[in-house]
Amino acid sequence: MNKTSEISAVLIAPCGMNCGICIGYLRDKKKCPGCNKESDSKPGTCKKCIIKNCEHIKESSSGFCYECPKYPCRRLKQLDKRYRTKYHMSMLENLTLIKEEGIEVFLKKEDAKWACPECHSRLSAHRNDCLVCGAKIF
Ligand code: SF4
Ligand code: SF4
Ligand SMILES: [Zn+2]
Repeated sequence: MNKTSEISAVLIAPCGMNCGICIGYLRDKKKCPGCNKESDSKPGTCKKCIIKNCEHIKESSSGFCYECPKYPCRRLKQLDKRYRTKYHMSMLENLTLIKEEGIEVFLKKEDAKWACPECHSRLSAHRNDCLVCGAKIF
C-alpha cells in the first residue's frame, strides 16, 4: 500500500487520469504501475485503452490530450462523464489545470485532495472509504 507517497508526473495518464488514486495502483496484489508504464499486471482494459494507444497522442509534445486537434474527442468525453458521475473527479478538469497552471501545481493539488482527512493515507477515487483507516470519504 502506497500510504502517503507523493504523486509523481509519470502517474498522470494522457487522458488526465491520476493513476496514483486508481485502486489498480493502490492495491497490494497485482499492482498496476500506471498508464505510462508497461506491466503484465496492468488490466486488459488499460492495455487496450483507445486513448492511451491513440495516434494523436504520439504527436503531442506534452503527452496529454489537450494538444490534440480533436480535443476533447467523444471517447475522452465519455470517460470524463463516467468519472464525474461515479468517481468524484474529471479528466477534463485535470487537463485544464495541467495546461493552465502546469503539472507541478496539479500534482500538489492532487496530493492534498486525495489524502484522508483522518489518517492522511492516499485515497482512491474508486472507493468511498479510506483504504487504511476506513473513514467515510464520499
Ligand atoms: S489500472 Fe489503468 S487507470 Fe488504474 S493505474 Fe493502471 S493504467 Fe492507471
Ligand atoms: S483527445 Fe485526441 S489525443 Fe486524446 S484520445 Fe481523443 S483523439 Fe486521441
Ligand atoms: Zn484514513
